[in-house]
Amino acid sequence: MSIEEAAFRQLAGEIEAFVRGPGEEYAEEIERAHVVPPSLWTDLRERGYLSLAAPEDYGGRGIPFSRYLELMELFSMSHASLRMIVHVCNGTWRAIDQLATSEQRKTFVLPQVAGDIRVAFTLTEPDAGTGADLRCSVVREGDTYFLSGRKHLITFGVSCDYWLLFARVQGTRGADGTVALMVERHAPGVTVEAMPDSMGVRGTDHARLLFERTPVPVTSRLGEEGQGLQVALGGFLTPSRISVAMTCVGLARRAQELAVAHAGQRETFGKPLAARQAIAFALAENAADIEAARQLTLHAARQWEAGDPGAGTLSSMSKLTAVDMLARVTDKALQVHGGIGYWEPSPIERIYRDARAQRFEEGTNEIQKTVIARDILGKAK
Ligand SMILES: Cc1cc2nc3c(=O)[nH]c(=O)nc-3n(C[C@H](O)[C@H](O)[C@H](O)COP(=O)(O)OP(=O)(O)OC[C@H]3O[C@@H](n4cnc5c(N)ncnc54)[C@H](O)[C@@H]3O)c2cc1C
Repeated sequence: MSIEEAAFRQLAGEIEAFVRGPGEEYAEEIERAHVVPPSLWTDLRERGYLSLAAPEDYGGRGIPFSRYLELMELFSMSHASLRMIVHVCNGTWRAIDQLATSEQRKTFVLPQVAGDIRVAFTLTEPDAGTGADLRCSVVREGDTYFLSGRKHLITFGVSCDYWLLFARVQGTRGADGTVALMVERHAPGVTVEAMPDSMGVRGTDHARLLFERTPVPVTSRLGEEGQGLQVALGGFLTPSRISVAMTCVGLARRAQELAVAHAGQRETFGKPLAARQAIAFALAENAADIEAARQLTLHAARQWEAGDPGAGTLSSMSKLTAVDMLARVTDKALQVHGGIGYWEPSPIERIYRDARAQRFEEGTNEIQKTVIARDILGKAK
């Protein structure tokens, strides 16, 4: 085994121990208080877990993407809010970095990788479809844009330092005229409202935002006018979708672990559940389902690393497959637990709720199918 491989295995071992030890304690605390304690952010940062995927010359650990995914699988076995912090911090730098000037890289990317600033990806709107439909708009006056419009469901949108926000130059349509802006959290003319509790991913803050002629310096724009959607959906989205697919694999693995343990220990009619073929077959189906999704996800990751132009479609395939797998696996895992699994504080109850959020993150199944269909039908022409 190479020294590098040995160091990677040691890191993976440390992460697994963290997830199963302190991670479970954080999970209990978050479920009790419905708030992520600031100490979790500090702990993750000090352990270096928020800068695993960024390159070394940005201050990151420089772990290749497909290997980072092996670690993401481990983090995803933990509470969804813990996994959310790791996923967002290890990925958002990529979106900012694509079109950043060297000045912007110093101001935004390096501090984000270091964990000194928190950036919230701010795309979804209550009054428009996600993407080219967006309605938040800016008007330029000299060196300043004035931003107006609404956003919602924004993860870390309350607690962040900047919103990486997507808007359009007023009067433009489609992708034309879209802009990506780094908007300061405490800029004037913004109303920030914390959204109420969600079904799962408890403790993570989500924001509803109203911008009323909020001034944003033109120097805070990433790329040119017209390149906003490129920042949101370009080089960033493919790895991020693959990372969400691996999240599904990790969460499903944890659900399966719990189901296997319960089936071995719970007895009905004089035998453990695991001795019943109906239960054993459900567990066998889960194992095959999880492994198939894991391998497709790793394949998508390796193709993206290799620069395969088909990686975008593969990323959608992996996300679609993994999300559907997660629904099947968590459903069977809860069924194996019987009624007690439906009650707090049974860990499977939380996992079942957390799993549902994955169907929205980085695009719904409908969007993934649209991407895949566009590719196959385009090739057929
Ligand atoms: C826990 C959580 C965290 C989130 N964090 C963030 C965040 O940090 N930043 C952010 O910007 N967003 C965030 N979102 C929002 C998320 O990205 C969106 O919910 C998701 O992209 C779907 O968009 P929507 O809610 O506007 O649904 P809608 O666009 O209203 O769609 C409703 C339904 O119709 C389907 N649909 C919509 N348009 C079409 C179409 N053209 N063809 C076929 N079907 C269609 C959708 O797939 C969906 O099933 C978060 C959501 C959740 C649940």
